[in-house]
Amino acid sequence: MPHPETWLKVLPEGLFCEPGGFFIDPLRPVDRAIVTHGHSDHARPGNRAVLATEQTLAIMRARLGAGVGGSLQALDWHQSLTLGDVRVWLSPAGHVLGSAQVAMEYRGTRAVVSGDYKRTPDPTCAGFEPVPCDVFVTEATFALPVFVHPKPEHEIARLLDSVALFPERTHVVGCYALGKCQRLIALLRQAGWDKPIFLHGALAAMCDVYRDCGVSLGDLRPATAAAKAALVGAIVLAPPSAISDRWARRLEDPVAALASGWMRVRQRAKSRGVELPLVISDHADWNELLATLQDVGAPEVWVTHGREEALIHAAAGLGIRGRALRLVGYDEEGEGEPAVAVA
Ligand SMILES: [Zn+2]
Ligand SMILES: [Zn+2]
Repeated sequence: MPHPETWLKVLPEGLFCEPGGFFIDPLRPVDRAIVTHGHSDHARPGNRAVLATEQTLAIMRARLGAGVGGSLQALDWHQSLTLGDVRVWLSPAGHVLGSAQVAMEYRGTRAVVSGDYKRTPDPTCAGFEPVPCDVFVTEATFALPVFVHPKPEHEIARLLDSVALFPERTHVVGCYALGKCQRLIALLRQAGWDKPIFLHGALAAMCDVYRDCGVSLGDLRPATAAAKAALVGAIVLAPPSAISDRWARRLEDPVAALASGWMRVRQRAKSRGVELPLVISDHADWNELLATLQDVGAPEVWVTHGREEALIHAAAGLGIRGRALRLVGYDEEGEGEPAVAVA
């Protein structure tokens, strides 16, 4: 049986499945791309053919417009397809709406590329499903033992406690437009916050895509159209770059919050002027990464974007052979958004 190393290769365009003739999340335009999810570092414009989940294609259409690519093909969960000599299917990755792992079988060996993923349940997307395989390709964004994410419900409770404590102020929560924003809204609704949630204009389009895909988000209103007085005691969501700039200063005595796995690092919160850091991540934390390696049972793991060395070392302790995949161009800082949004 051919080892995946012989048929799954790192090329300048990205990870290439040679016998299948396709790239996964290519960094440059290619003939045939399989896209794991809609974050801009994974879903780039200009590919001639794109295969992805229906939700990911909807996200890509909304973000990229006419640049989305040539022919678009949607694949349902677990629906398999033969490309060249390779059987391919998609399984949920639990990262954002539509996010998928790409499973590939070639001559009796199976490799799974997980894209970005998390294991904590998320009301806005299908949960991660471990796919047993021979080689598992994993991200390593938070692959250090210090990264153990608290329960998101706990962080939402901290936000609501602060809102109750400072009813005369406006809470402005920084979050990325795809995934984090909608997850925050859904978590707030689950926690019983049924008042309107106000949105910075940059967040509206993705919320519309989620709604079109059947995710209910409740009463959302544009923040810029609201009177300053209407935002007192309210929760406003905005891109991270907006929470401490001029845009936020028009709010009433704003409390700057930011939802990100990086908020575990106090210094990052401080340097960005974040008063209320919320540790809510759409990436697996250290324990989730290790649990996933054990769940998929692969004797070999290939590690990409993040702290490769630490995870490879820990994998060795579990008897799993590790290899750092030198793929550059994926964002490790912004949880999937352009690096400019992150100070
Ligand atoms: Zn990523
Ligand atoms: Zn992502």
